[in-house]
Amino acid sequence: LPLHKVIMVGSGGVGKSALTLQYMYGDFVEEYDPTKADSYRKKVTLDGQDCQIDILDTAGQEEYAAVSFFIMREHVGRYLRRGDFREQISRVLDDDSVPFILVGNKADLANSHRKVTKEEATAKAAEWGCPYIETSAKTRLNVDEVYTELMRKIRAR
Ligand code: GDP
Ligand code: MG
Repeated sequence: LPLHKVIMVGSGGVGKSALTLQYMYGDFVEEYDPTKADSYRKKVTLDGQDCQIDILDTAGQEEYAAVSFFIMREHVGRYLRRGDFREQISRVLDDDSVPFILVGNKADLANSHRKVTKEEATAKAAEWGCPYIETSAKTRLNVDEVYTELMRKIRAR
């Protein structure tokens, strides 16, 4: 079966694990070990075609960066250096055409909790040349959409 590898990257606490677990199991996991990085695989149907998705959930907090880097290196077989998330991924994969989606999670929270405006996020996505999607791992808003869109982009490469 065609395999689509997805890597979740981002600062600690943004909801990488919650998004992964919501997509994998259809559950909102409120408390998930912030230091834990793991990979998950399941069979899915993408536009009528059977395939597999493999999601690597990294632990992105600064203090756990070494763990995250180690796991990413294991996953893709190369070293990572510092840089922004997009640079890191392109560099580690030695590929500038890696499909990305910029995700703004916790869309269920009130606007007063917002750390990044829609305008800022949209500008960053334009700079990175990728889509921007707002999600909620709690309500499952756009969760399937993110992974489906990524798989389509991977398939189209
Ligand atoms: P990670 O460090 O990026 O893996 O973040 P987690 O998935 O562990 O989530 C960090 C915290 O944010 C946890 O308390 C989650 O319950 C909470 N959280 C994650 N996603 C959402 C969301 O979409 N909405 C709300 N309200 N809370 C979320
Ligand atoms: Mg996590």
